[in-house]
Amino acid sequence: METPARSPIDSKVQYDLLRRARRAAEFAYAPYSDFPVGAAVLASDGSITAGCNVENASIGLTICAEQSAMSAAVSAGHHEILAVAVSAPKSPGTTPCGACRQFLNEFRPRSSDIAVVLDDGCSGNMVWLDDLLPQAFGPRNLDSEIEDTNSATVTRRGNGR
Ligand SMILES: [Zn+2]
Repeated sequence: METPARSPIDSKVQYDLLRRARRAAEFAYAPYSDFPVGAAVLASDGSITAGCNVENASIGLTICAEQSAMSAAVSAGHHEILAVAVSAPKSPGTTPCGACRQFLNEFRPRSSDIAVVLDDGCSGNMVWLDDLLPQAFGPRNLDSEIEDTNSATVTRRGNGR
């Protein structure tokens, strides 16, 4: 599998992202866990969209901050992001949960990685989505199956994979 290109975001953009994630955490609706989280995503056009976790009495319907921010970005027409910042004030350095890693991977540019800025309480710690979710399953996997409709992959589709 090809290693995606990594372009670190500049420190000013990183600061802006982190600031937006921290502010979003202040709006978190987390009455059950009391674990507020904010996230902010940087779209490929440079715009930033933020979101917070939104819990629900049913617990299972809870939406993570990363998914909230990403959904808002998609709602504004963005399908590719370059970076995401995550801020959990009660636990510096918190990483996106497994579901969010998969959710964010959907919007990774075709040939580059997504910078993930973790709020360490200072200027942020940048890691990469491909390290958090190695060998990820994503849209590209379906592309190759579609392109390869004359081979055995067609049969694989019927296996409930
Ligand atoms: Zn999550």
